[in-house]
Amino acid sequence: MNAVRSLKMRTQVGIIGAGPAGLFLSHLLHRAGIECVVVEAQSRPYVEGRVRAGVLEPGTMETLEMLGLDARMRREGMVDEGLDIRFRGKNIHLDLPGLTGKRVMIYGQQEVVKDLIGARLEASQPLLFEAKVSRLSDLDGDRPKIHFSHDGRDEVLECDYIAGCDGFHGVSRQAPPPGHIINYERVYDFALARRVVAVEATRRYDLFEQRSWLRAVQPAFERGLSPISANRCQRRSHIMVRRPVLG
Ligand SMILES: Cc1cc2nc3c(=O)[nH]c(=O)nc-3n(C[C@H](O)[C@H](O)[C@H](O)COP(=O)(O)OP(=O)(O)OC[C@H]3O[C@@H](n4cnc5c(N)ncnc54)[C@H](O)[C@@H]3O)c2cc1C
Repeated sequence: MNAVRSLKMRTQVGIIGAGPAGLFLSHLLHRAGIECVVVEAQSRPYVEGRVRAGVLEPGTMETLEMLGLDARMRREGMVDEGLDIRFRGKNIHLDLPGLTGKRVMIYGQQEVVKDLIGARLEASQPLLFEAKVSRLSDLDGDRPKIHFSHDGRDEVLECDYIAGCDGFHGVSRQAPPPGHIINYERVYDFALARRVVAVEATRRYDLFEQRSWLRAVQPAFERGLSPISANRCQRRSHIMVRRPVLG
C-alpha cells in the first residue's frame, strides 16, 4: 500500500529509486531540512524482499547510527570479524579488526531497505511505490521534471534537483545529453578470485539460509569444508567466506 496521502507535485529534490542509495539520500536530506519525494517503480513488498548484498561495511553502519536507524541492525545483525579464504588446501584467515581496526556486519540489504522505508513512512515523508519513471525533461532549465505513471495516471513531478538513484540500467543514466555525465570510479590493482572458493560451515549460517546464494552453497556446508564454484552476479562476482563470531 502506498502510504503517501498527498503528493505535492513540486519538490526540492525528486529521487528516482527506493534502493539503498535513494532511501539513504531521502533520510539525509530530510535530516538537513530539505524536502524530497521518492518515486519507485516496484511495489513495497517487492523492494523489501529483494535479496542482494548481505554485508554492511563500517560507513553504512555509521550512517545508520547517525540517522538513529541502527537499532534492529544492532539487535539482529551479526558482527563479522574475519574472512577465510580456502586456497590450494590451506586456510587464509583475514583478521579484519587486526588489519583495519574495523568490523563488518552481516545484515541483509533488504533489512536495511525495510528499516529505511519504515522510518520514512512513519515520518509521513513522501515515498511512492509502483510509480515507474518513463523520462526526465527540462534538465537544462531551473525546474527539471520527472515523468512517471502511478495509479493508471501520468504524473509530472517538478523539482529543483533530480537525484537518479535508479541503478545502472535506470532511465536517469540515459537522460543527460552526451558529454554531461562525469563518472567517478576507483580502480584497484587487485581483485578477489572470480570463481572457486571454499566455505566453512557453522551453525550461525543457518540464520541466513533465506539468502539465495547461501541456499546455492548449502550442499557444500552439509559436506563440511568443500570448495564450490559460484558467480553471484555479472559485475560483482566475488564470494566472501566468512567466519562469524560465535556466541
Ligand atoms: C545478487 C546481488 C548481490 C549483491 N551483493 C552485494 C554484496 O555482497 N555487497 C555489496 O556491497 N553489494 C552487493 N550487491 C550490489 C548492491 O546490491 C548494489 O550496489 C545496491 O543495490 C545499489 O543500490 P542502489 O540504491 O544504487 O540501486 P538499486 O538497489 O538497484 O535500486 C534502484 C531502485 O530504482 C528503482 N528503479 C529502477 N528503474 C526505475 C524507474 N524507471 N522508475 C522508478 N524506479 C526505478 C528500482 O526498482 C530499485 O528499487 C549485490 C547486487 C546483486 C544484484
